[in-house]
Amino acid sequence: MDARELLYEGKAKKVYKTDDPQQLLVSYKDDATAFNGLKKGSIQGKGSVNNRMTNFLMQKLEQQGIPTHFVRQLSDTDTLVKRVSIVPLEVIVRNIAAGSLSKRLGLPEGTPLQQTVLEYCYKDDALGDPMVNEYHIAAMGWASDEEMRTIADYALRINDFLCSHLKGVNVDLIDFKLEFGRLPDGTIILADEISPDTCRFWDSTTHEKLDKDRFRRDMGGVEGAYQEMMKRLLGA
Ligand code: 5GP
Repeated sequence: MDARELLYEGKAKKVYKTDDPQQLLVSYKDDATAFNGLKKGSIQGKGSVNNRMTNFLMQKLEQQGIPTHFVRQLSDTDTLVKRVSIVPLEVIVRNIAAGSLSKRLGLPEGTPLQQTVLEYCYKDDALGDPMVNEYHIAAMGWASDEEMRTIADYALRINDFLCSHLKGVNVDLIDFKLEFGRLPDGTIILADEISPDTCRFWDSTTHEKLDKDRFRRDMGGVEGAYQEMMKRLLGA
């Protein structure tokens, strides 16, 4: 790869242009932030875990018929992805109450939900990623009704696949966040990442947290939790 032109630097990743205008290089960082950037730190080895886990899961999802932005892993921390225009929504899938849902509804963390819950937040740091519904999304023109049907269908199928795959390594998928993008022809594909930064993973037996909540809540054992998830999913 030649001298790389930085296109965008986010909280956990840098995105570079490549010689191919349809592809970007994503470089995962060890930097960690929480609470909309108020808490800052570093988690050693996080970039590598998140890159490798995301790529592993996206390839599995492709096999399930879910299109993703994954093209090719270049190194432990770097991956080539398809360039998309991001749908400005965080799509949150919940199986068990935790985090902001527990707070909002006064539900103890760990309360099972009678059915899977989908939530949407408008991606805007300055506004604190406010929750929105399908009416806001249509009214603001962030995505069409048809695109939202596709996104909801993919999100639920991704949840089914991840839940059963993680069950096999004794992990419960509590909740997670997805982002989708559009290819130039309008096709909706999965983008961003699937990692301990963006999912809540609890050990099925002990309910030990194996995700970024250990960093958010100053619980210690953060690096160990990321490595443990990596070992369970990829065996290394
Ligand atoms: P909550 O709304 O409870 O804070 O988060 C629900 C789920 O979505 C959690 O698994 C959390 O990791 C993920 N999530 C929600 N918003 C964000 C975000 O802005 N960044 C990251 N990394 N994950 C998020």
